[in-house]
Amino acid sequence: MTTFAELGLSQPVLQALDMKGYSTPTPIQEQAIPPVLKGRDLLGIAQTGTGKTAAFMLPSIDRLREADKQIPFKSCRMLVLAPTRELAVQIADSAKDYGALAGLKVQCIVGGTSVGKDRNKLHRGTDILVATPGRLLDLIEQKALNLNGIEVLVLDEADQMLDLGFIHALRKIKELAPKDRQTLFFSATMPKAIKELVSGFCNNPVQVSVTPQSTTAERIDQYLFMVQQDEKLSLLEMILKGRHEVPGAVERVLIFTRTKHGADRVVKRLAQGGIESNAIHGNKSQPQRQRALDEFRKGRVPVLIATDVAARGIDIPGVSHVINYELPNVPEQYVHRIGRTARAGKDGVAIAFCAEDERAYLKDIRKVTGAELDRLPLPDNFRAVVEGEGPTKPAPRVPMKRVQPRPVGQRPQGQRAQGDRKPQGERRPDGERRPQGDRKPQQSQGAARPGGNGGGGDRRQPGSGGRPSGGGGGDRGRGRGRPGGGGGGRPRSASV
Ligand code: AMP
Repeated sequence: MTTFAELGLSQPVLQALDMKGYSTPTPIQEQAIPPVLKGRDLLGIAQTGTGKTAAFMLPSIDRLREADKQIPFKSCRMLVLAPTRELAVQIADSAKDYGALAGLKVQCIVGGTSVGKDRNKLHRGTDILVATPGRLLDLIEQKALNLNGIEVLVLDEADQMLDLGFIHALRKIKELAPKDRQTLFFSATMPKAIKELVSGFCNNPVQVSVTPQSTTAERIDQYLFMVQQDEKLSLLEMILKGRHEVPGAVERVLIFTRTKHGADRVVKRLAQGGIESNAIHGNKSQPQRQRALDEFRKGRVPVLIATDVAARGIDIPGVSHVINYELPNVPEQYVHRIGRTARAGKDGVAIAFCAEDERAYLKDIRKVTGAELDRLPLPDNFRAVVEGEGPTKPAPRVPMKRVQPRPVGQRPQGQRAQGDRKPQGERRPDGERRPQGDRKPQQSQGAARPGGNGGGGDRRQPGSGGRPSGGGGGDRGRGRGRPGGGGGGRPRSASV
C-alpha cells in the first residue's frame, strides 16, 4: 500500500498528517498528489467525502513552500473557490491543519460577514485564500484584492458553483488570474457545461476520478413515511422524543425542508413542543449558520433543520438520521441530502416524509436513484394524536438525548443487522409485500447511481467507475421536465 511519504510529500506535511491521524492516502490522494506536485493541472471528478481537500491542499502546500515566494500585497498565492460559505470555512480549517508546520498564512473570505474585516485581512496578502466567488469579486471591485499573485487556482465543487449561478463570477476570475498558474478543478459530475468550463480553465489536465468511500445506498438504510402535510410536525416530534420508534439510535438528526420559511417554521414548532433545534439556510447570517453547525457538530443542539444549502459538501460526522421532512423537487438533491449521514465509514438512516402532493417527487427519486425506501408504519391512533394533543401543545423541555428511544435493532458500529430491516411482510407503498430478509437490491447502475461502488463502503480503487455517486448527475440538465432540474449555469438554489 502506498504511503504519503512515497507520494513525495515533504516532512512538515507528513508530520501534520501524522498529527491528523491519517495513515494512508485515499484513492484520490494517491492519484492526484504526484501530478500536482509536478505542477500539472488536474481535473478531479470526486465528491466530498473522498479526501479531495487534502488531495489538492497537501501537494499545493509543498509547491508553495518550495517556490518560497513573498506574500503578494493585497493578493494571494493560492486561491480556492468553493460554492458555499460552510464549505469554504471547512477547507480553510483543513488548510490550517495540513499546513500547520509549513508556516503558510491561510485566510478565508465568505459572504454574510463584515466586508471591512475582510479588507483588513487581505491588506498584507496571504499565502492561501479560500473564498466564495461572490465575496471575492466584491473585494476585487473594491480594490481590496487582486489576483495577480496566484500560483495555484482551485475550483472545488464546480458543478455546484454553476448550479448556484456563479458562472459569470468564475469567468471573470479566470480573466483576472495569471495565465501561467496551475489549476486544480474538482466537480462531482461532468455535464457539458462543466466540460466547457474545464477546457477554459485547465491546460491539458491529468484526470482522476473516484467515488466517495462511503457512498449512499451501501451504508444508508432508507425508509419512508406516507404522511399528510398537516401530520408531519407531530410525526417528527414523536420521533425526536422517542414516542415513535424508527430504525437506528436517534442521536443527531439533520432535517431537510424545501424552503427557508419552512425550516424556520419547523424550528418554531419544535420549540413549542420543547425540542431545541437550529436552522441553517440562506437567510441566516454567516455567524448564525456557523454557530448552528458548530452546535450540531458538538452535539449541543443535535437537531438541525436545513435547506439544501447544507446538502452538499458539508462534512458532519455522527449524523445518525437524515429526515427529508419535505422531499426535494430535484431527485439528485435527495442523494446529496442523505449523504450527510453514513459519513466516515459509519452506517446511517434516512427517513423520507412523503405527503400526497409529493408523490411525483418520490417517484422521481426512486427512478433516478434506484433506491428502495422501506415504508414505516405511522404511530397508533396517529390522527387522534395530531388532532388532539397536537405539536403546539406545550411540553416540558426535555433534551433529546435523555428521551432517546430504545434504538430499534441497535447494532454494533459499522455492522448492519437483519433486525433493522422492516418487519416481515409489511406492505410497501406500491402494495407489494417484501419477503423477510429481503435486502435492498444493490444499485444496478454501477457508478452512475448513488452507492454504485459496489464495494460495501470500501475505498474505491483508483480510476474505477469513472463517475462518482452523485445521483446520476451526469445527465442533469437534460430536461426531464422537473422543476429546477437543469444543471449547467442556471441558479436553482437561490431560495435556499
Ligand atoms: P473531504 O472529501 O476532503 O471533505 O474529506 C472527507 C473526510 O475525510 C474529512 O473528514 C477528512 O478529514 C478525512 N480524510 C481525508 N483524507 C484522509 C485520509 N488519508 N485518511 C483518513 N481520513 C481522511
